[in-house]
Amino acid sequence: MGDYVVAVDLGGTQIRAALCDRSGALLRRASTLTAAAEGPERVISRIEDSINEVLAGVRGSQVLGIGLGAPGTVNPWTGVITNATNIPGLTDWPARDYLVQRFKVPSFIGNDANLAALGEFRFGAGKGTETLVYVTISTGIGGGVIERGRLYLGARGWAAELGHIIVEPDGPVCGCGGRGCLEALAAGPAIAREARARLRAGASSSLLAMVDGRLDLIRSQEVVAAARSGDCVALEVMERAALYIGIGMVTFIHAFDPQKIIVGGGVSKAGDLLLSTARAVVAERAMTEEWKRTPIELAQLGDDVGLLGAAALVLTESGSFSQKQDRSA
Ligand SMILES: [Zn+2]
Repeated sequence: MGDYVVAVDLGGTQIRAALCDRSGALLRRASTLTAAAEGPERVISRIEDSINEVLAGVRGSQVLGIGLGAPGTVNPWTGVITNATNIPGLTDWPARDYLVQRFKVPSFIGNDANLAALGEFRFGAGKGTETLVYVTISTGIGGGVIERGRLYLGARGWAAELGHIIVEPDGPVCGCGGRGCLEALAAGPAIAREARARLRAGASSSLLAMVDGRLDLIRSQEVVAAARSGDCVALEVMERAALYIGIGMVTFIHAFDPQKIIVGGGVSKAGDLLLSTARAVVAERAMTEEWKRTPIELAQLGDDVGLLGAAALVLTESGSFSQKQDRSA
């Protein structure tokens, strides 16, 4: 059986690939711009080039498999990327069959947020648990649920759209077409929008000076920085987002009974600015004493979570991870 795993993290901006060993060590990396505007054929050939680059000198028989995480809608059973977010034209691409044909090794495809959950579970903050919820908060909110060591996928592979649970029936319109979704109230753009609205309404804040009075330049990063320096408006805005995230977490706990909730994504860099309020909401509103104490922790894998998630998918699907664990036990 192969000693190596090839991991591919397909994003709207970048394609990243890595050659990994079974322990999740990234031995060799490649990255290139996705350049989605050049069309899906070019994106596919760049994926192939990246895999070839990290495979240099490695024989197919040494490779356990290729794992690829993609943004958007993916059928994890057929390995078809139905619709890749921010990569126009990459629709109904039979990614798994394509990779198997080109590289002659088993290949596995998953949704990027789902795979991030699997990556944290195997190699990051979820090590030692069996059942967890992973939430990623950045431009959007997504996630994944691990149920007894496996991804919970749902009937169609669409499960764990954690950003689109509705937390305000009459809330702002969401990118999904709905209204009042967690994402529309607590993702990075929602945090920035709320700060801008308060400044427009006349609130005085150090944020104004940070962007030279140009409200359109305010992103969640600026709000987090201002909150850290004690700015009251920024603190209120973060508190409000954290309240919604906490409410979302209570729902995740009630729905999935996780041992732990892991929070990743760019906005999670706010750390306790988000998590302390979220923990307080969970402690107040979850149904049982055990659930009130659900650990809520930051993700550990940083920018490599996509690659390690794709690697974890190959290890999980080929059954080699549990064998390895059994041997080391
Ligand atoms: Zn939504």
